[in-house]
Amino acid sequence: MTVQPVRLFGDPVLRARADEVTTFDRELRQLVADLTDTMRASGGVGMAAPQIGVGLRVFVYDTGELAGHLVNPVFEVLGDQEQTGPEGCLSIPGLRYEVTRALRVRARGVDMDGAAVEFEAEGLPARCVQHETDHLDGVLYLDWLDPAARKEAMRAVRESGWFTTGQTVMSAADVSSARSEATGRGR
Ligand SMILES: [Zn+2]
Repeated sequence: MTVQPVRLFGDPVLRARADEVTTFDRELRQLVADLTDTMRASGGVGMAAPQIGVGLRVFVYDTGELAGHLVNPVFEVLGDQEQTGPEGCLSIPGLRYEVTRALRVRARGVDMDGAAVEFEAEGLPARCVQHETDHLDGVLYLDWLDPAARKEAMRAVRESGWFTTGQTVMSAADVSSARSEATGRGR
């Protein structure tokens, strides 16, 4: 089991666009295994590579109904129905907010061996595909909240124990640099 530290809100890796995977090698298989172990250990239903500090377009998911991984994922929205429900993120621990997403999507990508993967998802798995693909573009679910809810969320983030160092509440920029010093590179 290779559970990796989960990068938290404020870490710049969560705001960067991840790169396409071009090499399907042992390292990629290890990444998928690490993501799966870390997602399961954290009790999440999905996890994207940037959340463990790797800037590659890979995510894993396990919603109970659907489990697997997707490399270089894209999705298209099917139909015009939406779903509104509580959403959380392992990189923004302890918080949940209502987010409106497409109800149904068709996801496409490849697996760790480069073979084509395509599936349709509805409900929670569809929400998961949208949330995890967002991570690969540096987008977090808080970005989808309306301004009032986002303001409340940012206050909750600033007041979170994990977002403070000692007794000093730091700005997002300060936390990013402090955290990357604290966690180091290449872990
Ligand atoms: Zn997330």
